[in-house]
Amino acid sequence: MEDAIAKEKAMLIDRKYTCPICDKQIRAKAVKSNSAKFVDTMVDLRPIHSGINVTKYDTICCPYCGFAALTKNFTTTTQTQRKLIREQIQANYKPREEVECDTYTTEAAITRLKMTLLCTVTKGGKDSEIGNVCVKISWLYESLAEEVADDDPKAEEKRAQYLKEADNAAMKAYQHLSTARMKEGFPIAGMNETTLDYLLAYYAYKKGEYQTCMQYLSGVVTSKSTSPRLKDKSLELKDIVSAKLHENQA
Ligand SMILES: [Zn+2]
Repeated sequence: MEDAIAKEKAMLIDRKYTCPICDKQIRAKAVKSNSAKFVDTMVDLRPIHSGINVTKYDTICCPYCGFAALTKNFTTTTQTQRKLIREQIQANYKPREEVECDTYTTEAAITRLKMTLLCTVTKGGKDSEIGNVCVKISWLYESLAEEVADDDPKAEEKRAQYLKEADNAAMKAYQHLSTARMKEGFPIAGMNETTLDYLLAYYAYKKGEYQTCMQYLSGVVTSKSTSPRLKDKSLELKDIVSAKLHENQA
């Protein structure tokens, strides 16, 4: 356990930022570039790296005013958005001391992402941005479910609870990213068209919308720009959903 934390710590760096809301100097941990070795992506595109969960380090949170954002969106607020954050977040936020730590626990990272979600909705962020935050919350709850120790007397209960939270966040992501798909240009939430369509297909499947799922998948499978890896994932999902559709017809 301590080895694992030391290994994770070695891949991190403290980055300094100026908060666009309160102008204070703040820090956030970030993954050093090229330090995390990519292993695989899960069925919902959750990235897996060796020795570190990179999704935990994708937020910047100001302990003085409460403003939080995904790293890539931290400096891009408009004047109107900053006004909304000052009136609705900063005015109600109790400043606190920044806590020293070596790594972020998954729970702490979820708290940071939830603050990010609140701020993103409050500032009237785009559907793609809100959806992106929800995708990451869903991923972290799945990681949290995996982290529950087998000898925990409440292991089953906890896993079920975390997976339910993951589903809730995924369905919110589905809603916002579907809207973004209609209204915004690509990339959406960092994804190109085929990648987003695959993710929407997966969410549609989770929701039991099998026809919608198949429509998204047919586009992904026939597109020339789909990577072999994504095509494989799409074909696997297509098989599962085809079976479900046949079940429903029988
Ligand atoms: Zn601030």
